[in-house]
Amino acid sequence: MSVQADPDVLAGLDHWRELRAAQQPAWPDAAALAAVRAELEMSPPLVFAGEADQLRESLAAASRGEAFLLQGGDCAEVFAESTADNIRNKIRTILQMAVVLTYGASLPIIKMGRMAGQYAKPRSSDLEERDGTTLPAYRGDAVNGHAFTPESRIPDPRRLLRAYHYSATTLNLIRAFSGGGFADLRRVHEWNRGFMANPAYKRYDAMANEIDRAIRFMAAAGADFDALRTVDFYSSHEALLLDYERAMTRIDSRTGQPYNTSAHFLWIGERTRDIDGAHVDLLSRVRNPVGVKLGPSTTPETALALMDKLNPTGEPGRLTFITRMGAERIRDVLPPLLERVSAEGGPVTWVCDPMHGNTFASPNGYKTRQFSTVLDEVRGFFESHQAAGTVPGGLHVELTGDDVTEVLGGSEEIDEGALSRRYETLVDPRLNHQQSLEMAFAVSEMLRG
Ligand code: PEP
Ligand code: MN
Repeated sequence: MSVQADPDVLAGLDHWRELRAAQQPAWPDAAALAAVRAELEMSPPLVFAGEADQLRESLAAASRGEAFLLQGGDCAEVFAESTADNIRNKIRTILQMAVVLTYGASLPIIKMGRMAGQYAKPRSSDLEERDGTTLPAYRGDAVNGHAFTPESRIPDPRRLLRAYHYSATTLNLIRAFSGGGFADLRRVHEWNRGFMANPAYKRYDAMANEIDRAIRFMAAAGADFDALRTVDFYSSHEALLLDYERAMTRIDSRTGQPYNTSAHFLWIGERTRDIDGAHVDLLSRVRNPVGVKLGPSTTPETALALMDKLNPTGEPGRLTFITRMGAERIRDVLPPLLERVSAEGGPVTWVCDPMHGNTFASPNGYKTRQFSTVLDEVRGFFESHQAAGTVPGGLHVELTGDDVTEVLGGSEEIDEGALSRRYETLVDPRLNHQQSLEMAFAVSEMLRG
């Protein structure tokens, strides 16, 4: 028997329409948008309520220091690059990082992609100027095209349907890879041994050898490698385009409760976390675990208000704060938040995004980040939690599985001149495959203290 939703609960799912919704595209054709919404509403869910519940419990464990979240993927997924190779390389990178972090943290790692739905971007300006021409900004493949022409930059609601279908095919591949033997611990470990063959990573030799011994010990002791052949791999994206997110919100027939079925985990961005705004309202009404990005201007009052609104009952695992303060600010800005939230607030899972507070333009015009600065923010995150007696619950990174040159530094020493070699991101710079693994080793050392 299926449980019906309370009529007030259903009506509440459209309350956001009466509120200010930042960062929404100026869709040119209301009828076309309505037709797309109707089609999305009839399309099958991408994830199931029970999976979101299971993730909520894992995130609750992370809030208590019994698990650690690794959330990673592109700043913006791109339709044309949603190929089997790209998706596989990203999953592989995240799995490889997870093995290293498992060892460092001595904890289960919750694996989550910024994948299968990360197609919409908030922008600091509505317009983009190039060589004297001004056009609407690119807002992600779910909205408009990246090509710098007037036609391509017009928002097209049919792109929402393409975003749904690309999400479905990506998630299908994620499910195949995570359940079909690709994720076997021994295999992932072999990939990491390949990485360690590069002399650039000599300083992590000792830890790599320890992991190798631990795995050989497990095999000798008869560990159940059948159970270690599969992993849970969750999907997530920024819940930005409210027409899409609302259309994907469904009533769970087991409980009568609303779930956003476009991803397991949704987060609200730094630019759309207005406590009285539409994004916070819609996500306050779904049962999924949700996150909020907190930038350097966040006050303890704001954090407490968000907790009140998004997790009024203090349910463990329901709310994740993803802090992105910048390496220079985190040691000043994070401690008062930790102190007030732990003194007055319900449970929260604290996650570090060391990317978004550390972006700058290189002198030769690339939007980039410095690997050492990114690592320094992670260090500041651990130090702040240690001092406050709170729990560092995870890491949120922009990465790709390929050998791009978008972030400066790392042991391969990508310098300014090298940025032009393979700068492929359409929005923010990502750690490449090697830098991602190097980060996993470095963070692993921090986790071991
Ligand atoms: C992002 O995660 O790509 C992003 C835009 O982050 P933030 O909202 O923290 O700026
Ligand atoms: Mn980004």
